[in-house]
Amino acid sequence: MTLIVNELGIEKSRFPSGMTDRKARATAKADPSLVHPTDEDLSVGTPSAQDDNGAGWGGTMRIAVIGSGLGGLAAAVTLAARGYQVEVFEKNAWLGGKAAVLQEDGFRFDMGPTILIRPSVLRRIFTEAGRRLEDYLTMVRLDPQWRCFFDDGLVLDLEDNLQAMAGTLDSLRPGMGEGFLRFQELSEQLHTISNKFFFWRPVGSMMDTLDLKGAFSIAVLKDVMRMRLGQTVAGTIREFIPDARVAQMLDHYTQYVGSSPDASPAILCAIGHMQSEEGIWYPMGGTRAVPEALVKLGRELGVEYHTPTEVERLTIEDGKVTGLVVGGETMRFDAVVSNEDAVRTYRELVGGAAAKRFEKERDYEPACSGVVLYLGLKKRYEHLAHHCFVFSRDPEVEFHHIYDLGEPAPDPTCYLASTTRTEAGTAPEGGDALYVLVHTPYLRPGQDWDAMFPSYRQVILDKLKRTAGMPDLEERIVFERALTPKDIHERYKVLNGAIYGLSSHGRWNGAFKPSNRRRDPDGLFLAGGAAHPGPGMPMVLMSGWIAADAVDQRYRGVEAAEASRRVVEERLTAV
Ligand SMILES: Cc1cc2nc3c(=O)[nH]c(=O)nc-3n(C[C@H](O)[C@H](O)[C@H](O)COP(=O)(O)OP(=O)(O)OC[C@H]3O[C@@H](n4cnc5c(N)ncnc54)[C@H](O)[C@@H]3O)c2cc1C
Repeated sequence: MTLIVNELGIEKSRFPSGMTDRKARATAKADPSLVHPTDEDLSVGTPSAQDDNGAGWGGTMRIAVIGSGLGGLAAAVTLAARGYQVEVFEKNAWLGGKAAVLQEDGFRFDMGPTILIRPSVLRRIFTEAGRRLEDYLTMVRLDPQWRCFFDDGLVLDLEDNLQAMAGTLDSLRPGMGEGFLRFQELSEQLHTISNKFFFWRPVGSMMDTLDLKGAFSIAVLKDVMRMRLGQTVAGTIREFIPDARVAQMLDHYTQYVGSSPDASPAILCAIGHMQSEEGIWYPMGGTRAVPEALVKLGRELGVEYHTPTEVERLTIEDGKVTGLVVGGETMRFDAVVSNEDAVRTYRELVGGAAAKRFEKERDYEPACSGVVLYLGLKKRYEHLAHHCFVFSRDPEVEFHHIYDLGEPAPDPTCYLASTTRTEAGTAPEGGDALYVLVHTPYLRPGQDWDAMFPSYRQVILDKLKRTAGMPDLEERIVFERALTPKDIHERYKVLNGAIYGLSSHGRWNGAFKPSNRRRDPDGLFLAGGAAHPGPGMPMVLMSGWIAADAVDQRYRGVEAAEASRRVVEERLTAV
């Protein structure tokens, strides 16, 4: 087989039949600025569909992506950029999954994710297609990152600049700034280890990570020791931070993955560095602008999107995925990336013996769920920052309720987004589009959120009135909508209403999620919050990239995929 590398680093396998990619060629002609395989490259073949004996049959490989969450959209773009023919199936009428928008009566709310960290992951996906992220999204870096309100009246900003933050902490308690900086150093080390062993590769367990290096060297052993295996996030933070309120603030990084800091492995302290190194960003147009940018790019690359179209099941022959069923009709595909929750993918789309084996691999505990209030205010509160946390009185009681008892916390932490600080047009003049998120347990049998919601709404409003300096909140509300765990479960087809896929609980292996590359059945790949490397926007975008790269490694070969990867890395370092 001859390998040819084009300007994108896409290696073309020269199969005897010499296939072409009409769709990509048409797209490239329609949009000359698109860096895409040239006609000459395409004429020698794109990733080729194969028959059961591995012989090319002459068509471009067709890959289906089930679900258009950020993970699914990232997978689709990456696959299309590498020359595959991609179709996305989304059960909802909109693309973007949880990154949905609510626009009514002059207010605009992001319905799901609002805190965007690590924009470099998004940049890498655009670079796969030879595009500049800046041409698709305008983003603003936020400072402070969060404003924190505590029950005793303390208001503390998490500042963008680490030295400034350390100075603030010193004024709160002499010496604490130095402890904070040492914590950040540890966080950076843990992030470096994560980059080396977990990120940008389809690992599913500790053994996968160690296997990557082949031999178990002293260097690997040192890194394993530095991972603080057996220790928790909460315990680690308290080694550096003597003030209970500041520790509570830093504990909240684990809320990005919907898990308890007391039960999550210390390696997740890496999130601190992931946030401080690149900052928190607001895409103008809201988080919604992120899926819109990905879909725009996908369309330019020839991706087809089907909405509202629910996939009913996969078709599997002799242990290989051969396609999927939509509206009772079978469609043939060479491989499938499922962005549906990993556990539900196996239970509902795969079924049979493979699903039983998947269930036996490990316990799958859903991450937390949540209640969101979308409050249109006629008059905004000037003392808020763009992102705020209004903390519970006692985090132990709060987390015990959510994660152990499976009940909503009586005194919850509320997260607020007040987008008018950065984008005035999200509310009528003088008002605010106030987003309030409270984490709740994942859905337990018998929990009826239609009945539970009215009283819990009042618990949330009372908390804000009491702790966030908003005594007249109810009088200012002129528009209101809400999302409950039941709504989240139904809208996004997740496991027990989980917002963030699978929990990260487990001191030893809590960081691991099901690998993106499945062998049972062959031809199935996973992307999204319940797959490696886990939930949150940067992680699911990365999971989409990993799933696409795993497809590429499986069908075009490891060397070819690695060559594409190197080209993108070179481009990123050149910028
Ligand atoms: C209220 C809330 C607040 C959040 N806040 C933040 C935040 O501030 N920062 C952050 O980084 N993250 C946040 N998150 C988490 C973040 O939104 C998710 O981790 C991420 O968006 C999930 O992406 P995903 O790829 O897993 O897909 P999802 O968004 O879960 O989308 C999966 C899609 O697949 C579709 N689907 C499922 N099954 C099928 C099928 N059989 N056929 C067709 N389509 C199907 C679903 O309809 C859905 O659209 C928040 C989430 C929520 C809900």
